[in-house]
Amino acid sequence: DRLIAPAATREDELLEASIRPKRLDEYLGQQPVREQMKIYIEAAKRRGEALDHVLIFGPPGLGKTTLSHVIANELGVNLRQTSGPVIEKAGDLAALLTNLQPHDVLFVDEIHRLSPMVEEVLYPAMEDFQIDIMIGEGPAARSIKLDLPPFTLIGATTRAGLLTAPLRDRFGIVQRLEFYSAEELTQIVRRSAQILGIACVPEGAGEIARRARGTPRIANRLLRRVRDYAQVKGDGVITAQIAADAMAMLKVDPEGFDELDRRLLSTIIDAFDGGPVGVESLAAALSEERGTIEDVIEPYLIQQGFLVRTARGRMATPKAYRHLGLQPRRGAGE
Ligand code: ADP
Repeated sequence: DRLIAPAATREDELLEASIRPKRLDEYLGQQPVREQMKIYIEAAKRRGEALDHVLIFGPPGLGKTTLSHVIANELGVNLRQTSGPVIEKAGDLAALLTNLQPHDVLFVDEIHRLSPMVEEVLYPAMEDFQIDIMIGEGPAARSIKLDLPPFTLIGATTRAGLLTAPLRDRFGIVQRLEFYSAEELTQIVRRSAQILGIACVPEGAGEIARRARGTPRIANRLLRRVRDYAQVKGDGVITAQIAADAMAMLKVDPEGFDELDRRLLSTIIDAFDGGPVGVESLAAALSEERGTIEDVIEPYLIQQGFLVRTARGRMATPKAYRHLGLQPRRGAGE
């Protein structure tokens, strides 16, 4: 398993529960999102209404689930959690919706993976707080309308483009989470260290933050591994030196890249002369799935300017050449 993979592992899930922020002012970074949500939440509370439906998109590990819980907490309502692929039948969704209390939050992770049939049921539920369900079978079958309590749907997805237009249009509030800056992640690492009772100097937190690929989940995971190293090789305190040594042992380089990132960049440079190369050819050369490249490896490399996506495929930038200790090729992607 990749130490710097943004998706949650079982260990993350167990440990995240204790360090997940519960209130808006503990939710660090994402300032525009935080400011807007504060206003929307306050306004909904003053009107005594359910908050508008919220769509949150952003790469894994940036805090979509956390933000949903924070919103429910700030509203003072319950949150029911499910995910797109889990809701198999229209009846599953109907059962969830009819069990909500007024103003509750229904959080649907991976909402782009809802089946079309389930989506159809969701539209009137979101718009009019009503659902049509079929009872009986064959000629005796009929549809009845059920009223639902007013509720807030919070949908999370890694890419907004994966959503159907009619679904996207039914969200009043759309928030896009951005990768966190090293300063923001330093704050997050320091907060987590405090909660977990780990001694960590600010420079040590900074070393971890810089390698965490803009992602709180990765920062928290690296913190746990560096803690082990500090306890065995040091005196338990995470200093800048201890953090750097631990990362070297874990083969996470100063950009937060691991072997897989370096292999992707060196494959484009060595096997495809720097690109452009189509994602399918790249997937074959790396023996990785196309989806893994697109969803897991590329986003951070692109965001950091090591890779560009052109109409003809991926290209390594001069930054990528230099990171691998190579001379940039003339005309390398800018
Ligand atoms: P996602 O749902 O986008 O995959 P999560 O909400 O599960 O991500 O976030 C992963 C972990 O990162 C959380 O358990 C939490 O501890 C931490 N985290 C996420 N966002 C923040 C934030 N804004 N401030 C502090 N910690 C955060």
